[in-house]
Amino acid sequence: MGLAPDGGLFMPQYIPKADIDVVFRKAEKSFPEMASYLAWLFMEGDVDKDALDEVCRQAFGFDVRLSHIEGDKYTLELFHGPTFAFKDFGAGFMGRMLGVLNGSGEDLTILTATSGDTGSAVANGFYGVPGVKVVVLYPEGKVSDLQESQMTTLGGNIFPLRVRGNFDDCQRIVKEIFSDSVFRAEKKVTSANSINILRWLPQSFYYFYGWYLWNSATGKYMPEITVPSGNYGNISAGMLAKKMGLPVKGFIAASNANDIIPKYLETGVFEPKPSVHTVANAMDVGNPSNYERILDLYGGSFASVKADVRGYSCGDGDIKKAIREMYGRYGYVSDPHSAVGYNAAVRYGADGFWLSTAHRAKFAEVIEDALGRDFPLPDALERFLGKEKVFTPIDADTLAVEDFVRGL
Ligand SMILES: *Cc1c(COP(=O)(O)O)cnc(C)c1O
Repeated sequence: MGLAPDGGLFMPQYIPKADIDVVFRKAEKSFPEMASYLAWLFMEGDVDKDALDEVCRQAFGFDVRLSHIEGDKYTLELFHGPTFAFKDFGAGFMGRMLGVLNGSGEDLTILTATSGDTGSAVANGFYGVPGVKVVVLYPEGKVSDLQESQMTTLGGNIFPLRVRGNFDDCQRIVKEIFSDSVFRAEKKVTSANSINILRWLPQSFYYFYGWYLWNSATGKYMPEITVPSGNYGNISAGMLAKKMGLPVKGFIAASNANDIIPKYLETGVFEPKPSVHTVANAMDVGNPSNYERILDLYGGSFASVKADVRGYSCGDGDIKKAIREMYGRYGYVSDPHSAVGYNAAVRYGADGFWLSTAHRAKFAEVIEDALGRDFPLPDALERFLGKEKVFTPIDADTLAVEDFVRGL
């Protein structure tokens, strides 16, 4: 279930304590070993430990790197997964876990509407999971060639629907299907959106790993962690890690022009607004859902949130300036979302690291605009482009999509 029956977000019933020495030893072995230790703290008794180990090996079989930019400046690169953005952690874990939880039960269909990135992360995270079929609805002509390739070249249990309509049509269709009780009695369908607790929980794991890498590199113990934020799932998972015992001095909530949370940190008032479009578009959120989780983690106290979190926001001009500055000074090419993190960390002189949430190649037009040149695609992305796209074109019509799902 994505949402709880009362419309709220799920939280763990209790928050277990992690033993930081054990975390360190497991992390020395591998990210998946450490991840499985942490996940087990929540799931002991609910799943088999060997199955959980295997889930973590499959979901997290890629690098997590701490890049040293200069002096005190470090960034934790979370974009070395299959679709080159940090959402691979949540989507990959949820996909493999559903395979385990669903067991040999009836077929489960995941329905997801996407404007590009979520669909590719979910398609790759759920690819090959037995008993699970994934139907991805995306708007024709509105996603980049690369994003379309990442959703349409997998085959297997992934069924891309290219909808003759826009993203809102795709979302509407998915919503209508979820509220069609007749259809749901026929077919077991669920969503995989970013607020699902199975996507949220594993995002806490890389905070532990980032701490391990940073502590090993610097000998220091208490980082301040800067998180480029939009819907605030990422940073709230960091707050969960802190509650589990991770030594963290505090967080910097770094946003683009959609400054709802930085404003809240100034005024104590949470005031959602329509989102505005920016060059860091995966953070264009005007009503961040995970605000609820943040409040819950801090016992509903604004003073406690404020004691732990500093807010920062910047516009497109400053984002492009940061991309130029990092390239000019350090020869490092940052994607626009991570550049917001850089700006925030520099502004506060933060001693710690910022999270880099996407690979520059995913936002090549912004980089080209900022730097006046382009860069070659990494081989792993190039490979997607070389393959034939296979998808089903469909009208923006809920009944047509239901028929398609019935026929799978
Ligand atoms: C989703 C996303 C974000 C924002 O993460 P939240 O958890 O929504 O705060 C930042 N950067 C990139 C590249 C993203 O895809």
